[in-house]
Amino acid sequence: MQGILWTGTEVLCVDDLSVEAPGPRRVAVEVDIAGLCHSDLNPVTGNIPQETPVVLGHEAVGRVVELGADVDQRWHGRRVTLTVLPSCGHCEHCRSGHEHWCRSSASRPHSPFSRHGQPVHQFVRLGAFAARTVVNESQLIPLPETLDPKVAAMLGCATVTAFGAARQQARIGPDDKVLVTGAGGVGLNAIIAARYYGARHITAYDAHESKRALALRCGADAFHTPDTAESLASIAPDNGFDVLLECTGVPALLREGFLTMGWGGRAVIVGLPTRGTELNLEVRDLFNDKALLGCRMGSVPPRRFIPELAAAVGRGELDLTPVVSTIVAPDEVNELIASLGRGEIARGYLDFRDR
Ligand SMILES: [Zn+2]
Ligand SMILES: [Zn+2]
Repeated sequence: MQGILWTGTEVLCVDDLSVEAPGPRRVAVEVDIAGLCHSDLNPVTGNIPQETPVVLGHEAVGRVVELGADVDQRWHGRRVTLTVLPSCGHCEHCRSGHEHWCRSSASRPHSPFSRHGQPVHQFVRLGAFAARTVVNESQLIPLPETLDPKVAAMLGCATVTAFGAARQQARIGPDDKVLVTGAGGVGLNAIIAARYYGARHITAYDAHESKRALALRCGADAFHTPDTAESLASIAPDNGFDVLLECTGVPALLREGFLTMGWGGRAVIVGLPTRGTELNLEVRDLFNDKALLGCRMGSVPPRRFIPELAAAVGRGELDLTPVVSTIVAPDEVNELIASLGRGEIARGYLDFRDR
């Protein structure tokens, strides 16, 4: 079957990938479309260590087509998006409603993939750039049939991350002046989230001028690039920003963004910096009720939070379509990666429906 591999030297679309049948508590999902997220490029750029070859992809919508032993029969045929966070269902975190802290979400996955008898790894326990993948039952999020597949796929990663960061960590409310650094898939979702949760003013900052129209369409009140703003401090309101949603993973932006926040400000680290990155801040600067907050996949339990977002989309309260860009065949993946790198697109998708 078709799939997209990072071989260690190139991103390759192949049609001779094999996937095993689901074992106990696991299911097979036929992928319809999958979004290309910056995190998919982390193994490619060396930002995170990853054994190769590996099937990339983690932001997908599809349908459950085969159940392993001990799986609830009601999953069969369900339309789902996938979460990178499996949960065991019985540890202290799962029992207290914090399934996103379950240590099984950091476990070393068993990969279902192989090619000509040789093992192929599964990126972040999903490997969604494949016509079919096998995941844990706990990674399934049921979705309505009516939801636009491009929006449905995005809910599983970029949207849940941004909305969780805005709601759970930043606790954005009506008086907040928000700075969003990075206007990629997650950053644009963060702008929409800040607007959705009622922020008073939203400033977006991105390296690419080409993101201006998109950021404004998503709800930003102001947009800056390094060319239009001498520094983040120069675009901060009088008493500083109330919230920073740092979506680039660039440590200098995190530090500078943190320093632009006023008293009571909340800085949320949404973008993941390279391993080993340290942050140099004067502790005294936190004294005025400022907070620096980590955020992993939105810091929310995905199986409760994502269906809530899907329902808001269904009711017409939430429009995520401005973030949606192009959709291409799997063998055009390298062109899609190139246009993502040039800042030409927000969320591009690979279409696996032509199986
Ligand atoms: Zn992602
Ligand atoms: Zn658990």
